[in-house]
This record gives sequence, structure tokens and C-alpha cells, in this order.
Amino acid sequence: MLSEFDLIKRYFAQHSTSDPRIALGIGDDCALLNPSPGMQLAISTDMLVSGRHFFADADPVMLGHKCLAVNLSDLAAMGATPVAFTLALSLPEANPVWLEGFSQGLLALANQHRCSLIGGDTTKGPLTICITVFGELPPGSALRRDAAQVGDDIWVSGTLGDARLALAGYWKEIKLAAADHSLAAQRMHQPTPRIALGVALRGIANAALDISDGLIGDLGHILERSQVGASLHIDSLPAGPVLSLQPLAKRREFTLSGGDDYELCFTAPIAQRAAVIAAGLASNTTVTRIGCIQQEPGLRLLDDFGQAVSLQLTSFDHFTTP
Ligand code: ADP
Ligand code: MG
Repeated sequence: MLSEFDLIKRYFAQHSTSDPRIALGIGDDCALLNPSPGMQLAISTDMLVSGRHFFADADPVMLGHKCLAVNLSDLAAMGATPVAFTLALSLPEANPVWLEGFSQGLLALANQHRCSLIGGDTTKGPLTICITVFGELPPGSALRRDAAQVGDDIWVSGTLGDARLALAGYWKEIKLAAADHSLAAQRMHQPTPRIALGVALRGIANAALDISDGLIGDLGHILERSQVGASLHIDSLPAGPVLSLQPLAKRREFTLSGGDDYELCFTAPIAQRAAVIAAGLASNTTVTRIGCIQQEPGLRLLDDFGQAVSLQLTSFDHFTTP
């Protein structure tokens, strides 16, 4: 039987770091960080609960990746560079196969982003994974939700809707060919945090957030916090490669309200169009202009002909969505 301390040592503490920003990692009562001189800390927590955010039998390697990816996505949405993270883990049992896979998926993504695991907590209980990430950015450069300006373009990174399409496949709501379903499922299980794009957008974008609960709901947060409205060209939304093959109504529904995309939605002045495109190229991330910020409150959905479209769509909410 693995003890709590063996478990931490074997699966998580072998992650040694030579990062000068980490003065002390796993093993003491606290970790110690040396933020780079003059930088501000950006901190975010996300919790993933078995049966709620992922299936209880989810592949542990992919789950490890996803748990950290959704947290890194929050740093990306702020324009922060990752530094470190903590991991609070509630486990029903110390299963070595699960722990091996989970730690492998988690730490591979951590290494890729130079984000060290510096501590955490481990307890027995229902499978729940809670990560806190620490990032850094120059003071005043954070891409906040409350900073959209009237006249800004609205942009989105990557593609939308394939994660939601994969879910529809699992639920048998839509029948998908096996190869298509696995491609879409990869987007659901292995989201790519857009860190390089977020950093490249410092000083260019005004407002940003990451899309976790669906574009319209999440964009709604920017509109509310910035006290502005917007028009969206809904047929310009970049659908994922699998969703692109679906009929228009599904493409619209899943790109607008899909959820689990972990793409960035951001606003930037028209004068920054060339700079946004350059930031996309520099970070190897596609960026698509999808609408504009307006004074008039509310969100207007327009088709390719500029005609208003009325759709009954809601975004995911843990306490109101069944
Ligand atoms: P304490 O009792 O002081 O809270 P613990 O016994 O819980 O310390 O943990 C011992 C050390 O192992 C601490 O440095 C803690 O941060 C680290 N740790 C515990 N669980 C994890 C985990 N799941 N991942 C990474 N580090 C962990
Ligand atoms: Mg503890």
C-alpha cells in the first residue's frame, strides 16, 4: 500500500526544478517564490470534480493534461506567463496506474510551459482535482474583462465548438463517424492553453477572457464588466474541423454556446488589426475577427447579410444547467 508521503514523493515530487523563480518547491510547509523583478503576480484556481467536469473513467493522462490546461488558460486570458502551480488532490484510492498516468499528463504540460509543481495537498475522498496557478506579468499589462472600448474589434483564437460536438457524440445526440468523434474528442480532452498568444497580445488587446462556458455567455461577461454592447457576425465564427461538416444550425449553436473550448476571446482597437494578426502569427495561433464592441447595450447576432438572427441559446451554468 502506498502511504500519502510515498505517493507525493513518487508521483509529484520528482519534478525537480532549476527555475530561479522557485526558491523552494515541494516538501516544506510552504513553497517560496521569487517573482521576476518588477513583475505582478497573476493567480487563478480551477477545480475539476469527477462526474461533473469529467467522466469517472476518464483517461488519467488526458485528465492530468486537462486539469492544468484549464488553469493555464486563465493565465493566457490575462496575458500572464506561467511560473508555478499547486495541486490539491482528493482520491478515492491510491491506484498506481491512475497516479502514473495522471502525473505524466500533468507534468508533461507543466514542463512544456515551464510551470513547476511547488506543493499541494493529498487526501482520501471523492475524486476532485483542484489546481492553483501562479503567473507573472508587467504591472498594468493584464488583459482584463472590464477594459473593452466602444469601436473595438472582437476576436477569437483557434476554432470553436468541437468539444461540444464530441459531447453530443458521447450523448448520442448526434451520430458521428468514429474518426470524426475521436478528432472532436481530442479537443474536449486536450485543450491547448493559448499562453503564447495571451503574452503576445499585451499592449495590443484591451480586454480578454478564455471561453470555458460558451462564447456568448463568456463574451457577455466582458460586455457587462465593460458596460458596452456588441454585434457578432455569427457565420464568421471559426468552427472546429469536425463541426464544420455539420449543418448550419448546429454550427451556429455549438460555436456560440458550446463550452469547453478554452480559446481566447479578446477585443482590440481597429488600429491594432495588423498587430493582432502579427501576434497570431508569432504565437502560431489562428485569430479570427468576429464582431465589434458598440455603445448600445446587449449582444446582437448578425448573419452573413448583416441581418439580425434570433437564437435561443444559453451558456453553461453549474447551478442552473441540469
Ligand atoms: P502539511 O501537513 O504541512 O500541509 P503535507 O503533509 O500535506 O504538508 O504535504 C507535505 C508536502 O508535500 C508539502 O510541501 C505539500 O505542499 C506537498 N504536497 C502534498 N500533496 C501534494 C500534491 N498532491 N502535489 C504536490 N505536492 C504536494
Ligand atoms: Mg497539507
